[in-house]
Amino acid sequence: MVVGAGMVGAACALYAARAGLEVILVDRGPVAGGTTGAGEGNLLVSDKESGPELELALLSARLWRDLAREGLAEAFEYEAKGGLVVASTPDALASLTDLAAGQRAAGVDAVPVDAHRLRDLEPHLAPGLAGGMLYPQDAQVMPALAAAHLTRASGARVETGRTVTRILRAPDGAVRGVRTDRGDLLAPAVVNAAGVWGADVAALAGVALPVLPRRGFVLVTEPLPPRVRHKVYAADYVADVASDSPALRTSPVVEGTAAGPVLIGASRERVGFDRSLSLPAVRALAAGATRLFPFLERVRAMRAYTGFRPCLPDRLPAVGPDPRVPGLFHACGHEGAGIGLATGTGLLIAQALTGTRPELDLVPLRPDRFDDPRHPDRRTEEAAPWTR
Ligand SMILES: Cc1cc2nc3c(=O)[nH]c(=O)nc-3n(C[C@H](O)[C@H](O)[C@H](O)COP(=O)(O)OP(=O)(O)OC[C@H]3O[C@@H](n4cnc5c(N)ncnc54)[C@H](O)[C@@H]3O)c2cc1C
Repeated sequence: MVVGAGMVGAACALYAARAGLEVILVDRGPVAGGTTGAGEGNLLVSDKESGPELELALLSARLWRDLAREGLAEAFEYEAKGGLVVASTPDALASLTDLAAGQRAAGVDAVPVDAHRLRDLEPHLAPGLAGGMLYPQDAQVMPALAAAHLTRASGARVETGRTVTRILRAPDGAVRGVRTDRGDLLAPAVVNAAGVWGADVAALAGVALPVLPRRGFVLVTEPLPPRVRHKVYAADYVADVASDSPALRTSPVVEGTAAGPVLIGASRERVGFDRSLSLPAVRALAAGATRLFPFLERVRAMRAYTGFRPCLPDRLPAVGPDPRVPGLFHACGHEGAGIGLATGTGLLIAQALTGTRPELDLVPLRPDRFDDPRHPDRRTEEAAPWTR
């Protein structure tokens, strides 16, 4: 039983079904009605430092390529367009060069691009940048379509419009299914793929998992002829993702889409689940994007939308079995990378469900890590500078 039909739940359903399991996918809303339907679809290795998240990103990138080759590429608008990270100052370029050295050692393809060559790759980029790095493994999908097509390909029994209100346990404590507002659904294993609501679903089983929302806005331009070829972003984006600050942080992230509109991100702030439009945030996005691509000054924004990234204190997801509750598994907390990391997560969950040796070491991602008093990111509600 997979709780949550977002990108992560859909991938868990797909790989569990491919491992021979019978899958029920349950969601209180529609497929992709959560953060998956409110973000962008970059599949990035470029923004991750070497370590467990990058390993998961590389595994996931390979699986996304495999799914695209199976004939799903067109269905979910898979584009192997590559990412271009640009540095505006020599200092930023030096940090980017350091980051790339570590990534290369982990298996990432990172190609330095001299300042004078940047406009060969992106003819509309602003002049005067210090240089950049090209990441050919970065790609893009349309997230809602990807979640829908993976759900369909899984053949899972889909129970949408059904809220999980309790995790059912046997007298020995083992999971035996879920209670929903429309009756019980029985299963010997439950996967918590509830994204930013992962803490609430964990609590239904009596365990803590400190997933908190990190709000982001996206500005959407009117449809344009193709002018932005890669996913292009400023080198400071990596620092913003890693930052712990509750205050608004923005760094320009610009990408074209198959449908024509250009998507402009990325903002991050801790404001709980506040959906109201923030003019300072969207102004900062527009200003950052026009600094990178001056032609955008003359382009109209059609709309802005907002979503809540599911964020754990160490910004790594929780993936794997929960030793506190036999039969409970978690696949949530992927912050701003849940689309990219979904496929690897789904495969790892399927391997854990079937007792197969996992492709990656699950220790850094273990769901109970924040209970450990020695964990550097152990947080209590009182100590956390964030609001729910
Ligand atoms: C502005 C923005 C830009 C982003 N850009 C990118 C990007 O470019 N690349 C990338 O990889 N990621 C990006 N992300 C992050 C990405 O969108 C998320 O990490 C990802 O969508 C999380 O997917 P999920 O399946 O875990 O959660 P969700 O999509 O939120 O799915 C969780 C589901 O659980 C359901 N649920 C919750 N509680 C219950 C319950 N009690 N009973 C039944 N169902 C329940 C919800 O209805 C929901 O459908 C972005 C996010 C934002 C906000």
